[in-house]
Amino acid sequence: MPKHILIVDDSKTVRNLVAFIMKKEGFKVTTAEDGLDGLEKLYAAEQVDLIVSDVNMPRMDGLTFIKTVREQETYRDIPIVVLSTEGQDKDIQIGLTIGANLYMVKPAQPEKLVRNVKMLLG
Ligand SMILES: [Mg+2]
Repeated sequence: MPKHILIVDDSKTVRNLVAFIMKKEGFKVTTAEDGLDGLEKLYAAEQVDLIVSDVNMPRMDGLTFIKTVREQETYRDIPIVVLSTEGQDKDIQIGLTIGANLYMVKPAQPEKLVRNVKMLLG
């Protein structure tokens, strides 16, 4: 069974690009357009193996989304990659503190993203 990746980003362009990259690697992909949508898709999925999340999004931002995911026993260990335009040290620090495994700054190199995702999936 292919690993299932949930991509959460309010930019359709980024969503589609990351989805395209991941599908090309053989992953199963679900996309969500903000944190709330991300939670709904996560709860609806049988299994999600990894999450790629933006930070700045309407309705529910990425940090709140990740915090909410991490607060739940079931989802405590899902690897989470943050993909954000916010690349300052404090942003990265906050992202990692609330439970992201990895913080990448946009635009991220596709090969690097793929490498990191594969590393986190073990
Ligand atoms: Mg955004």
